[in-house]
Amino acid sequence: MTTHLNPDHSVFDAEGVKVFYNGFLALVDVHIKIPARKIIAFIGPSGCGKSTLLRCFNRMNDLIPGAKVEGRLLYRNQNIYDSQVNAVKLRRQVGMVFQRPNPFPKSIYENIAYAPRTNGYQGNLEELVEYSLRQAAIWEEVKDKLKEKGTALSGGQQQRLCIARAISRSERVATAMKPDVLLMDEPCSALDPISTRQVEELCLQLKESYTIITVTHNMQQASRIADWTAFFNTETDPSGKRRGKLVEFSPTEVMFGNPQTDEAREYISGRFG
Ligand code: ADP
Repeated sequence: MTTHLNPDHSVFDAEGVKVFYNGFLALVDVHIKIPARKIIAFIGPSGCGKSTLLRCFNRMNDLIPGAKVEGRLLYRNQNIYDSQVNAVKLRRQVGMVFQRPNPFPKSIYENIAYAPRTNGYQGNLEELVEYSLRQAAIWEEVKDKLKEKGTALSGGQQQRLCIARAISRSERVATAMKPDVLLMDEPCSALDPISTRQVEELCLQLKESYTIITVTHNMQQASRIADWTAFFNTETDPSGKRRGKLVEFSPTEVMFGNPQTDEAREYISGRFG
């Protein structure tokens, strides 16, 4: 059973979302409301469906052969799995940052400017580049070397460059529309502690205008930055296979101070000792 302490304003509302890989039910019915302009951490043991659910929010699972999503997943009251929804546009609103920073093998400037230019961006590209890099708290470090390769930066800088790229792609920048969402799949797991802190600080700044959903194995990180925490676990299906489920979604202080489910309590006390 899932325990929910529901937020007031949600940007996503998942109603019975399940995900199959080649017919195998890997993630059972998820019901969750994702609060707007907050940081949400997904925690739990490996293989419990955290990344799988994360990829549902911008339909990245569409790109995995054999993956199938069922149920309703409302983004601002529209089911993003409706056939008329344009997944490419959705991914501009709901960007993704991966475990390993993946800048293009191009200049820092082009890492930001390339996609908007290709998509016929009408605004001033230089302004967009500066705005995005400032938002991602990396402008001061790179403003004098915009022509250098993005891949030559340190790991932490590359990750912030990737966050800048995700921001620049959002239509909000072009139209001053409503805030957007950034999905992050263990964005700090390849970073040293100082770079990790910088990315965490950046997330705390960005939540003024963005909703951030991040998968993390680092419980201290979840307790440091997340407003809400979702705990996932595995269970055994009738054929004896392990599948993932969402167990509890609570404000972070509740999750770490007074979890509402025995499963979360056990996991968290085991992890924190
Ligand atoms: P987590 O992020 O919590 O470690 P995942 O979402 O990666 O968990 O995986 C959940 C389940 O889905 C696991 O059983 C995993 O083996 C399965 N799975 C994940 N990705 C794929 C894939 N591309 N193809 C087949 N099975 C997958």
